[in-house]
Amino acid sequence: KAFCNETDVVIIGAGPVGLFQVFELGLQGIKATVIDSLPHIGGQCRELYPQKPIFDIPALPQINALELIDNLAQQASPFNPEYLLDNRVIDIKRLEQQQQFLLTTDKGRHIRAKAVIIAAGGGSFEPVKLKIPGVEPLIDKQVFYRVNDLKQHQDKDLVILGGGDSAFDWALELQKVANSVTLIHRSTRYRAAKNSLQLVENLCSKLKMQLLTGQVSELITENSELKQLRVTGKDGVTRRIALDQLLVFFGLSPKLSLLKNWGLDLHQNQIKVSTDSFETSQPGIYAVGDINWYPGKQKLILSGFHEAALAAFAIKSSLSDGKRVPLLYTTTSPIAHQRLGVK
Ligand code: FAD
Repeated sequence: KAFCNETDVVIIGAGPVGLFQVFELGLQGIKATVIDSLPHIGGQCRELYPQKPIFDIPALPQINALELIDNLAQQASPFNPEYLLDNRVIDIKRLEQQQQFLLTTDKGRHIRAKAVIIAAGGGSFEPVKLKIPGVEPLIDKQVFYRVNDLKQHQDKDLVILGGGDSAFDWALELQKVANSVTLIHRSTRYRAAKNSLQLVENLCSKLKMQLLTGQVSELITENSELKQLRVTGKDGVTRRIALDQLLVFFGLSPKLSLLKNWGLDLHQNQIKVSTDSFETSQPGIYAVGDINWYPGKQKLILSGFHEAALAAFAIKSSLSDGKRVPLLYTTTSPIAHQRLGVK
């Protein structure tokens, strides 16, 4: 039987707003599980601009995106959220009798919750796929979009595609365990950090790695096994490269397609919410952060923080049969102090 967890509230998305939502729910004494399709927390801040300074977070004149994420996780930590990472939510079902929701992830995990908060930002980040005939049956056998276990690539002849940080970082890491590593990018304009490029070039000059320019034009298989790549260079010359495994790091792009199946009223690609509770058209399902829409919506982190606070109040009220929820000042409220673990 598939493993099934139970929690008060599931938050879909561990971006800045999902993380602050944990804190706001915690203040109300509500326990949260946060699910993200990425293997780490941080959403767009970590994925798209980790080292960029942000200037419009209240009371923080300047803070690096990654530092903001670390701070938010630290602020949420007294409430011991459970993070279920590397799991994409693919289904939300309402269980009518129990007044609960059953969420299912692409890894076959099931979680029951009394309410659901969608903090899915621009969508679930998915690897940009290699578009070439014959690739589908090889995925997770000989073609990989992420590294789960270095051992899987030990003593293999690897080809890595991509010119960004992931491609370079993994090439450097895998070079330590693989039999050979060939890194291929379509041009010599690399997006990876200068330092990584230098390390790769050093290894190439010692013949411990190869760096090529070109594009994969064909996968050559024998008995359904990938044996060679045909790579066309900028010079128009096509070369064959023998390999055991192909790792593709073309970056990540957000996918919103799932939303359409969840029966929620949408405004273009955003979920319509009411601005007093941030509840969607489906009772018990809320939406905060970049994913939601209401008149005047601005996709800013600070808007998401406000939305998270009001959603927490609304959920607390709904879980206590509609009772009014008193405001707790964190400066003076003994209940807030107890929940925060303040001595
Ligand atoms: P996100 O950060 O998008 O996080 C959503 C998370 O949900 C993702 O990790 C995703 O993987 C996950 N997810 C989605 N669907 C699923 C699913 N089905 N299952 C599991 N997980 C799922 N804002 C500012 O306020 N100030 C700035 O200076 C600023 N600068 C920016 C600069 C750049 C370059 C960019 C791109 C954005 C900037 N923003 C800025 C916008 C800001 O990053 C967003 O408003 C913010 O990240 C929204 O947070 P979020 O938590 O709603 O969503």
